[in-house]
Amino acid sequence: MFFCEKCNYLMNENKCFKCGKSNLRKVREDDFCYFATLPAFKTNIFEGNLKVNNIPVAAFGQGYDYATKKSSEYNIFIPYKFFKEAKEIYRLMFED
Ligand SMILES: [Zn+2]
Repeated sequence: MFFCEKCNYLMNENKCFKCGKSNLRKVREDDFCYFATLPAFKTNIFEGNLKVNNIPVAAFGQGYDYATKKSSEYNIFIPYKFFKEAKEIYRLMFED
């Protein structure tokens, strides 16, 4: 897998589908990679579950929810080495 340092995206091809950067480097275990964009309430419970499993997570808010006066959704980033585990947690939480 390749990694765009600019976008923090993980991808199969050696070219970023988001910014167009080519000659990407191989992803490293500790790279925080884009995982998903979730609404605020899902971000909270997902973050909680990751922390319980000792998986580091970074969430950056975007948009604005006037009701809660907080970001309406969050871009979630997780280190590559925890990706599989995080995907499993995500699947159990939201896809069953
Ligand atoms: Zn990029």
